[in-house]
Amino acid sequence: MVLLGFSSEAINIYLPILALQSVFIHSGEYCLLWFTLDGTTNWSIEVTDKEIDNSPNNTAHEHCGIFTIPGSDQIQGAWRDISYVPVRDNIWTVSEGIYRTIFIEGKKGIIAFDTFTTPGGARAFQGAMHRVFPNKPVHTIVYSHDHLDHTGYAADLAPEADIIAHDLCNQVITGRQSDGQLAATETWSGERKQYRIDGVEFELIYPGPTHGDGNVAAYFPQSKLLFMVDTVIPGVGYTFFPDWHLSPYVPTMRRFLSLDWDTFVPGHFWITDRSGFEENLDYYDRMAEIAQEAIGAGLDADDYAEVTSYTYQHLKPKFGRHFRFDEYCAMNLSRYMQHYLTGGWGIEGNMTAEIRPL
Ligand SMILES: [Zn+2]
Ligand SMILES: [Zn+2]
Repeated sequence: MVLLGFSSEAINIYLPILALQSVFIHSGEYCLLWFTLDGTTNWSIEVTDKEIDNSPNNTAHEHCGIFTIPGSDQIQGAWRDISYVPVRDNIWTVSEGIYRTIFIEGKKGIIAFDTFTTPGGARAFQGAMHRVFPNKPVHTIVYSHDHLDHTGYAADLAPEADIIAHDLCNQVITGRQSDGQLAATETWSGERKQYRIDGVEFELIYPGPTHGDGNVAAYFPQSKLLFMVDTVIPGVGYTFFPDWHLSPYVPTMRRFLSLDWDTFVPGHFWITDRSGFEENLDYYDRMAEIAQEAIGAGLDADDYAEVTSYTYQHLKPKFGRHFRFDEYCAMNLSRYMQHYLTGGWGIEGNMTAEIRPL
């Protein structure tokens, strides 16, 4: 409730301001504004505790993921400008410049892959689909993997939609209980599963541990298109390879080369082809060798200035033209060195890769 109060010794009148009410209640804040008869204006803003209701129908607050500090709803709620283009057949892609995903036109509605990065991003994604197909609701969401920046906000994208996820992905989601990330309504396990939904045919493939948990590719054989998130991304690797399972990663990803496709849509940046896909995996192979060489040469993995200097000396000639070399290559090398020094992270990071063709 927002109240406007005129305070004096004799007058104490409070009027609700409906226009402001939604804004302040939305962010869990209460505001008092009052004027005194000597002409001064006084504000009082109080951030109150709010009960978080994670049910899909609750729209009384901005979904805040796993943020815990006041004001996180503003970070989460910012609108993202999104571009959208058809890729092939009934497959469309959307991007806000960094993140990318796809959506598919069915006979009656839309199948959306992932939910975009934030509640604001999810609403912008929903808006983009609505502009392309104004009379078709999103009836199905397919999750790529568990990470919030890709699948955290079905509650803002299409809270009533069916949600499909690999069982390994959904186990993390149900354990995490993140505000806005809805659990799957349908899970599957194993390596491959064919779907026919609303006239759309595709296959989901879990090739083994790559990045995150239960990270699956969507394969559209008729369109010769493969979509997979946070694996092959144009340019050098992403920062310190968060939640990448480096030991099995490259051989597992190479399994996709046994399938018939010529277009690869990644979860970031731009669409590529088979040669771009293979070249990207070659970078990881080379990085693995260089990290071992660097350890052998006495480079201190904990001295980031030294790692950066080594990167410019030894990697720039071969990889300097790659997108975001300057930003990330030293981080890539540091993480690969740590991988060899520590043995990799967790079970997935140490599994022997399945290399059988898909
Ligand atoms: Zn991820
Ligand atoms: Zn990502």
